[in-house]
Amino acid sequence: MPATAPITQDVMTIPRKTEPGPLNLIGLTREQLRDALISIGTPEKQAKMRTGQIWQWIYQKGVRDFALMSNLAKPYRELLAENCVLAVPEVVTRQVSEDGTRKYLVRIAGGHEVEIVYIPETDRGTLCVSSQVGCTLTCPFCHTGTQKLVRNLTAAEIIGQVLVARDDLGEWPELGVPNPPEARRLSNIVLMGMGEPLYNFDNVRDAMNIAMDPEGISLSRRRITLSTSGVVPEIARTAEEIGCLLAVSFHATTDEVRNKLVPINKKYPLEVLLEALRSYPKVSNSERITFEYVMLKDVNDSDEDAHRLLQLIKGIPAKINLIPFNEWPGAPYKRSSNNRIHAFADIIHDAGYSSPIRRPRGEDIMAACGQLKSATERERKSRKQIEAEAGM
Ligand code: SAH
Ligand code: SF4
Repeated sequence: MPATAPITQDVMTIPRKTEPGPLNLIGLTREQLRDALISIGTPEKQAKMRTGQIWQWIYQKGVRDFALMSNLAKPYRELLAENCVLAVPEVVTRQVSEDGTRKYLVRIAGGHEVEIVYIPETDRGTLCVSSQVGCTLTCPFCHTGTQKLVRNLTAAEIIGQVLVARDDLGEWPELGVPNPPEARRLSNIVLMGMGEPLYNFDNVRDAMNIAMDPEGISLSRRRITLSTSGVVPEIARTAEEIGCLLAVSFHATTDEVRNKLVPINKKYPLEVLLEALRSYPKVSNSERITFEYVMLKDVNDSDEDAHRLLQLIKGIPAKINLIPFNEWPGAPYKRSSNNRIHAFADIIHDAGYSSPIRRPRGEDIMAACGQLKSATERERKSRKQIEAEAGM
């Protein structure tokens, strides 16, 4: 199949509702915000300045009440309040793990729920953001992939997750006091929550461009990592239109095994995927591609797999992130033994690659990779169904 084949989403997809309602100013690009302000009666001549002012209130200061926007005239604040809202997802539950990991369940329009995870480390704090409710792809080891309902998140719902986390972390700077990225609790974003970000490209791009805007949250593109299962046509666009770091859910070293573990491989097989990764234009030593590799007992964890992996990625600046499989009730796989994971890591490491083993975080609150799934939609496909889809 040609790499440019149109993407089809073959699982039930709920179209995004376009309910009429007050205009949400969160999640708009600067251009869209400007148009929105003009549409409510802002004179064109002032629109650019107003856009900048409102942008700073929202993304630099965390203000979500027009009445507090003190550099806008009172009648203008009232005009905004009458016509617009500043809406972010509503936090339903907040859990804090023994290791400090925080998991939020948030509700979005339509009553859907998604999860956000905050992982504190000594030198950084990473927010794991969701891009879809559920996922149309059905990787059989992934809990999210067993969720039937799927809808794309809007840009407002994606950047809204960052705003909600900053609220909870008390991360908005005192007015006028700068907040340098190295002093922040939320210093990095990974698009590794629920969903396939490259099946929701435009909204993910707009939300990440907001996160990077220097007059707002101002995260460097090197502090944002997008993880994809390998949606090849969108990989080049990611480099061009977002420019963030890329992680790829590799997980297997032959098409036969990858077809089962990451079914999108049937559409974009290893050779095509590797070609796209090789030409990820921004690739350089400081911008290595992260190869994620989930360690599944007796499935993809042999010494031969490690050697094949090295052959495949030859020439690509890479880091290999080994993820011990996070088991969930009914999962059709087991985690590789620690010895096996270490033996695999040693082979990779001896070839000169960084091969960290991801330490499971927040396991007591089901916040680990691949375990995210909204509580209201936790109904699972039967094991039989999962196995049938995995061709086992
Ligand atoms: N859809 C995207 C991003 C979300 S998943 C993707 O697939 O890349 C984030 C990472 O967690 C992916 O590498 C995914 O393969 C991995 N993952 C999913 N389920 C897992 C599990 N049960 N244990 C460990 N890692 C898992
Ligand atoms: Fe979707 Fe990623 Fe899970 Fe696969 S691993 S089902 S692509 S979220």
